[in-house]
This record gives sequence, C-alpha cells and structure tokens, in this order.
Amino acid sequence: MSARILVVDDIEANVRLLEAKLTAEYYEVLTACDGPTALAIAAKEKPDIVLLDVMMPGMDGFQVCRRLKEDPETRHIPVVLVTALDGRSDRIEGLEAGADEFLTKPIDDVMMFARVRSLTRLKLVIDELRQREESGRRMGVIAGAAARLGGVGGRILIVDDNERQSQRIASELAVEHRPVVESDYDKALQTARGPVDIIIVNAAAKAFDGLRFCAALRSDEQSRGVPVLVIVDPDDRPRLVKALEIGVNDILTRPIDPQELSARARTQIKRKRYTDFLRQNLDHSLELAVTDQLTGLHNRRYMETQLAALVKRASMGGEPVAALMIDIDHFKKINDSFGHDAGDEVLREFAVRLATNVRAVDLPCRYGGEEFTVIMPGTRLADAERIAERIRLHVAGSPFRVAGGKELLTVTISVGVASTVTDLDTPETLLKRADGAVYEAKHAGRNRVIARAA
Ligand code: GH3
Ligand code: MG
Ligand code: MG
Repeated sequence: MSARILVVDDIEANVRLLEAKLTAEYYEVLTACDGPTALAIAAKEKPDIVLLDVMMPGMDGFQVCRRLKEDPETRHIPVVLVTALDGRSDRIEGLEAGADEFLTKPIDDVMMFARVRSLTRLKLVIDELRQREESGRRMGVIAGAAARLGGVGGRILIVDDNERQSQRIASELAVEHRPVVESDYDKALQTARGPVDIIIVNAAAKAFDGLRFCAALRSDEQSRGVPVLVIVDPDDRPRLVKALEIGVNDILTRPIDPQELSARARTQIKRKRYTDFLRQNLDHSLELAVTDQLTGLHNRRYMETQLAALVKRASMGGEPVAALMIDIDHFKKINDSFGHDAGDEVLREFAVRLATNVRAVDLPCRYGGEEFTVIMPGTRLADAERIAERIRLHVAGSPFRVAGGKELLTVTISVGVASTVTDLDTPETLLKRADGAVYEAKHAGRNRVIARAA
C-alpha cells in the first residue's frame, strides 16, 4: 500500500534523508523547505500524509498545521509533526493545532514507517467515504458537511488493571467525557461491543495481555471501527511496534501527561464521529437518492451522473461506452386489462430479468415509466447489440406471472442500441441515437433490437 507523502523541513539535508528513506520503500515523495510552499503544494497536490517539522523560521510547523486543518480542502490529510526529543509542550501545542501524529527527532525508522502505514490505512477509508459523500452532495441529497463535529462528551472505555493509573486517567477524562473503567478481559470485550467512541488499553496490564485484547478488538466486527489508544512504556519498543502493527490508532507513553491524553482522546473521537457521520448518511439518503423505489434498479438521476463520467472518459481517448434504451411493448394494455398493480408486478419482474442478464460492469436503470436503460462501459456497438438480443429473448421467452400467479402474460420489449464512436458524442447524443432506434423498432413491429451507428 503506497502513498504520496509531503515532507516539510527547513533543513535541506533532513528533507533529502527522509526522501531517500521513503522512496526506498516505494512511497512517492513531495518536498518543501518552508511553510508557505508546503501549504501551496498541499492545496495543489493533495498528498496522503504530511510530515511536518515544527521548528522552521517564518511560519512554523504549528501554523502550517493549523492552516491545513482550517481549510476544508486539506483538513482530512493526516499531519505528522516532527518535534524535538523531549518536546512535551510541542506535542500538546501540536495536538491543539490538529496534528494527528508525532515523531521525535532523530527520527526512528521503525516508528516512522509504522505510523505512515497506519495513517495510510486511515486515509484510504476517509477518502472513500469523502468521495461517496461528495457524489451524494452533488446529487443534492446530503445537506451540509460532516465538519464541525465536536470531540467532547465521548464514551470512553478504559481497559486497565492498574487501579491507580486507571482512576487518574478516568478522572482527567471525566472533565469533558464519560469514561468507564474495566479491569476484566471478557467484560471489557463485551463493553467494547456497545456504544463506545474510543477505547484506551494498558499494554502493560498484569492480569491480561493488553495487545491480545487490541487484536481481539480489531478482529471483532462490532468493535472494529472504534479507535484504540494504547498506553506503553517508552522503553518497551517491541510492544510499541507490535501495537502499531496490530493497527491501534494511537499510542501514549508513560508517564501519562493529562493534557496530551485529553487532546489525543479528542482527536480520535472527532475522527470517529466524522467517519460515523459519513457512513450514516450513506446508509440513508444516498441509497434513496440513487435507487428506483419500485424496481430497486438505479434511477435516472444516478444513471445520468455515471453516463456523463463515462462519456467524458470515452471522449478523451478512453474506451467506448454503449447504451441500451428499452421500452416495454404495449404496456398500457397490461395496465388496462389487468390493473395498475399487475403492471407494477411486470415492471418488477422485468427489472429482475434485466439485472440478471447484463454483465457485472453494466448499469441497468429505470429511466422512467416502462422505459429502462443499460449503460455499458467499454463496449462496442456489436457487443452491446448481442447483449440486448439476449435480454430480449429472456423477456419474450417465458411468460410473466402476475396477480399471485393467476395470470400468465407474454411481455415483449423494443430495444435501441448506440455506442460512442466520435469524441463529439455527449450523453444526450448517445441516448438520442438509442431512442431513435427504439422508435424504429416499434415501427418495424416491436419485439426486436435495432442498433444505430452514428
Ligand atoms: P408502446 O409499445 O408503443 O411502447 O406502447 P405502450 O403502451 O407501452 O406505451 P405508452 O407510452 O403509450 O404507455 C406506457 C404506459 O405505462 C402508460 C403509463 O400509464 C404506464 N406506466 C408508467 N409508469 C408506470 C408505473 O410505474 N406502473 C404502472 N403500472 N404503469 C406505468
Ligand atoms: Mg413508452
Ligand atoms: Mg412502451
């Protein structure tokens, strides 16, 4: 899994060293030697991760970080701040500025790659969700953005058998969250399945194996999405590396700094809520927005957005895209003879036959009424015509059952086929050609496929 990483440091030698190390591991590296340049590159190139030195003349790392996190275009990009070795106050200021991770100088390779890997994974999820959210918003469904979700009032599960330590953590977090402490492995796993925003695990617990607990969380379907923060001893490097490998979201080293603890908890809670928010919107509105309620096929609006993108790609030298326009023959008669409900049943049954007779890459849609389309990426006219013929046969070949199976109806369709051939084709010209072919098919006697070359 590779990523594009922007490395920012005012000392040229540092930049080159990191660049060499990251490139050797097949990461793509962008570089900047000052804050303003870093901001410009981040805005233009949208890297997956920013590795940001704190100490820079002029605009320092905190300022750069703050600016990145203020801009809606760059807010989602994880920032790793590179601080001095004992830069405790740096870390707190960095977290307040919105930094996601820290590395201390001199940079430890294992830690760097572990953090880069874990952030790359996170970035993939966020990107995917953002992309879907954006297409949702383009369709005018999701109002407002996920932004401005707070990081307080979180439900925190602390898994620790060290009573003094867990009580201290709990009382610190209780200022702005709702923490509960659990010292029993099984009970903790149970609680983790409930509504929890973040789980804090002591990796050095005596009564149970903290890392095993983290691994169990990661492999459990219900707790997989909950951020995990692990407490380790700074000297226990093997455990620290292992924790990152298991996929924990963040690490706190002892002694625990209360301010750092609450800042990190806040960051993780915010991130969790952001992800939850996007996912919920997907589940509800997006589904409604792209689906035809009667047949469960994609609706016309969705078809149009997909077709526009495919035709554009085709016009820029990509593969051709084909469209079928399908109209059920004498559908009005079905309604008139058997009733509107029977007509609906025919539409539903037709949708099933349509969807099961196209390829996985094809997009069957209800265009409106008793008209349907199939969008076929990477398909030439002759191939589209063959698929259309197959659909026609599967419709006419066996009767449709309606009225609880009491009536058997023979249904036929007329199909028009078109495919992009010139870079002048637009979605409109393509659909118009297919529609013209349907018209021809109707006049030629219905129950047939006609392909129309440009
Ligand atoms: P042709 O062979 O020329 O296509 O004849 P046709 O009767 O299929 O065409 P026409 O466009 O005249 O009639 C389409 C009918 O489809 C009219 C409309 O009432 C009916 N219809 C449209 N949407 C629905 C629906 O959701 N359910 C039902 N039951 N009927 C619908
Ligand atoms: Mg019609
Ligand atoms: Mg019709």
